[in-house]
Amino acid sequence: MGRSADAVVQPIRSFDEGCRRRLGIVIECRSCGKRVTYRAQDFVGFIAPSAEIETLRWRCAWCRTPAESARYVMIEKMDRQDLAQWKPPPWMKRRRGPVA
Ligand SMILES: [Zn+2]
Repeated sequence: MGRSADAVVQPIRSFDEGCRRRLGIVIECRSCGKRVTYRAQDFVGFIAPSAEIETLRWRCAWCRTPAESARYVMIEKMDRQDLAQWKPPPWMKRRRGPVA
């Protein structure tokens, strides 16, 4: 695979699985064209372990447009500066119960 940062990840059935594989989540905005990669682990406690990220609502960090595309990527070989740090918005509450 040539483009390692963009390597296709086999279907990940759940957010929990994405975390265990230490994947990143890429949010691509069709409106402004920005693309942000976060660590899946940043979302632990905020996304249900069984959730499919593709079905969740994501928003572009820049223009706040609902982004249509969220998918997992391999981030092992990515530079740290290419990864964004996700911080929960103030209104978002951490989920109770067991955390992945
Ligand atoms: Zn945008």
